[in-house]
Amino acid sequence: MSNRYSFEFFPPKTEAGREKLKDTRSQLAALNPEFFSVTYGAGGSTRDNTRGIVLETKKAGLSVAPHLSFGGDEESEILELLNSYKDAGIDRIVALRGDIPSGMGATRLVYARELVEFIRKHTGDHFQLEVAAYPEIHPDGKSYDADIGFLKDKLDAGANSAITQYFFSADSYFYFLDACDKAGIDKPIFPGIMPITNYTNLARFSRNCGAEIPRWLSKKLEGYGDDQQSIIDFGTEFVTELCHILMEGGAPGIHFYSMNQVEPIKSIANAVMESHP
Ligand code: FAD
Repeated sequence: MSNRYSFEFFPPKTEAGREKLKDTRSQLAALNPEFFSVTYGAGGSTRDNTRGIVLETKKAGLSVAPHLSFGGDEESEILELLNSYKDAGIDRIVALRGDIPSGMGATRLVYARELVEFIRKHTGDHFQLEVAAYPEIHPDGKSYDADIGFLKDKLDAGANSAITQYFFSADSYFYFLDACDKAGIDKPIFPGIMPITNYTNLARFSRNCGAEIPRWLSKKLEGYGDDQQSIIDFGTEFVTELCHILMEGGAPGIHFYSMNQVEPIKSIANAVMESHP
């Protein structure tokens, strides 16, 4: 069986961003990924934007998976969105809890497991469902084993596979796969891979989402200072090698966080997809 590759976009806020995304999408489509996915701002903050990009991607003849979370939405609103996706011929969804966007107040978060149950209840087996997994453990996770238990719950509730938060240590992924296997999880867990392009932004984002940048790697990247090109060159070499290690170690494919940019993801994906079709 061939490996599965996918690319993630976020919905741009401006017309210029949307135009740029069209170019990124057509360049990445040339690599023939299994699907593209489009993120969803929790609380429905990007509902129309996400839906717009999803439908446009589908119209371009590409396979696309919208991300979805309850946020503060009513069940009827989520059902309407699900049915509009189903009617458009979309057959895959990334089901999430999401986070509370700053300034949205006391929105109740609904665990991803409940969304998986809701989608299965209302649309049967129509959608292939992806859920999120955390090899370095979710920031709210009470313990390593508890977090894996909750991942198992989402998969047992009917999700088909999981995509991980990004990480830079192959060991954390392989240890996680072993732990999932021991916990009785037998569905595929696809590594999510983040390119390294801007160290300051990456360090801030990583602190928030609980992804660890190993000390040696942060020292190396910090050492380049404002030399952006060297950060990109070293980062691309490092991330490409990480992908090779993951694939050689048995990963079933890779989900690339494209950040809506063609490069460096296209070069990284191209190298990996050629060696591990
Ligand atoms: P859940 O699986 O619901 O888990 C959330 C936390 O609650 C975990 O700590 C878990 O251990 C704990 N937990 C789960 N069930 C229970 C329970 N029954 N009792 C007690 N604790 C429990 N965010 C967005 O806003 N939009 C996106 O489009 C988006 N896309 C993503 C794509 C991927 C591949 C990944 C990895 C993350 C994405 N995120 C996105 C981020 C994600 O929404 C956050 O990490 C969020 O905090 C958790 O979502 P989840 O679906 O993993 O939550």
